[in-house]
Amino acid sequence: MRQPADVLVVGGGPAGSAVAIRLARAGLKVCLLEKSHFPREKPCGEYLSPGCLSILDRLGLLSALEALGPQPIRSMRIEAPGGTVLTGVYPGNGTASHGYSLPRYRFDALLFDAARKAGVECHEGWRVVNLIREGESVAGVVADSEGRSRSFTASVTIGADGRNSVVSRRLNLFAWHRTHRKVALLRRFQVPVDVGDVGEVYLGKTGYSILNPQGRGVLNVGVVVDQQDLPLHQAWEGVLCDLLAAYPRVRAMLQDAHPLNAIRVLGPLACRATRVAGDGFLLVGDAAGYYDPMTGEGVYQALRGAELAAKTVAEALSNGGPTAGGLGRYAVCYRREFAPKDRVCQLLQQIVCRPRLCDLLVRRLNDRPTHAEELMGVVGDLLAPRRLLRPAFWLRLLFRPAIDEPIRRA
Ligand SMILES: Cc1cc2nc3c(=O)[nH]c(=O)nc-3n(C[C@H](O)[C@H](O)[C@H](O)COP(=O)(O)OP(=O)(O)OC[C@H]3O[C@@H](n4cnc5c(N)ncnc54)[C@H](O)[C@@H]3O)c2cc1C
Repeated sequence: MRQPADVLVVGGGPAGSAVAIRLARAGLKVCLLEKSHFPREKPCGEYLSPGCLSILDRLGLLSALEALGPQPIRSMRIEAPGGTVLTGVYPGNGTASHGYSLPRYRFDALLFDAARKAGVECHEGWRVVNLIREGESVAGVVADSEGRSRSFTASVTIGADGRNSVVSRRLNLFAWHRTHRKVALLRRFQVPVDVGDVGEVYLGKTGYSILNPQGRGVLNVGVVVDQQDLPLHQAWEGVLCDLLAAYPRVRAMLQDAHPLNAIRVLGPLACRATRVAGDGFLLVGDAAGYYDPMTGEGVYQALRGAELAAKTVAEALSNGGPTAGGLGRYAVCYRREFAPKDRVCQLLQQIVCRPRLCDLLVRRLNDRPTHAEELMGVVGDLLAPRRLLRPAFWLRLLFRPAIDEPIRRA
């Protein structure tokens, strides 16, 4: 008979692999179940914010990532609906001065491989379909592979299975966002010009488009639109073409481009779990909730959430077991860590859907480089999001004459 694991991780994306690595290194017996086989594609903007790099460094994986030759992203060009442009730079040195862009099939495979090397028992091609319960507690999962079904048991089950998390759904915790209903179309293109090291965000009247350069003329192109504005009467090629008509600069850039993969369509995007921890389980990464790709913090939240989850689980197991109370500490840390950035993202969405306000703010940010750097620092996961939740930030930005003063880091 199989020995139960200490921890079962469902999903081998950034959240699952990172939490599995940490727990295995803490001396626990960890089993990781992934439905796909690596390397596999994952539809994504494929941008790693500067904040991700210090976490990857703490995981001991930054050099391995850099050996893959990712494209540094040194600044963001943001074009407001009226055409005003802001080029924002990150307020830091070394790894804090840039993000990276590289295909997820390479990034995710690197992390999954590191989990295997850390001693995690990795199973590819196993799709989790149900949970095993012991009374109120989660005691493991049932997974299928090529017509076989098998039970995996553990003291703690971590749902790291992404936006449509089976773990969250089986626990009746899954909920769509009530009002934020966006759909994304994504495709990688080969373009005949130098794509540089600047990410580009084009804000439109009903959505936005993001371009992430990946080196050697490869561009990751994403368009995000309200679900109700999606033209559904034609093939996805036509839909993408129609949506890009709102962004003439992007269309011009793609004139002689060759698509490198099929168009991937995802939506609705925003969802959340009503609870992220309980008796015998916790949720990490997108399984715990996802809002919107505009500010590109998904991978950061997956990696940082994995740090918080691993600490809680290791402590709970060494203190007598994974009770709801022990694992519940994760819910508190999770809220404290991510709620402020969520509020910033919601605030920015409110601004973006008001084109005139958006233009005004981009003009003001151009005149006030310190404010622009502060915004980039928060968006890049380098500075505390609370800075942008202070009314003083917006009042000074809108009403105070432009004074260039250095950023206070406290
Ligand atoms: C359009 C779009 C663009 C984005 N762009 C960016 C960006 O540029 N930068 C950024 O940081 N974030 C971006 N994100 C968000 C980012 O993709 C996610 O936040 C990130 O992938 C979350 O990682 P994760 O490990 O939680 O989930 P995932 O990466 O989704 O990994 C989940 C894993 O679980 C596996 N799995 C799922 N179900 C099961 C099951 N039943 N059994 C076993 N395995 C299972 C999947 O195969 C997958 O490998 C974007 C999101 C969207 C929608």
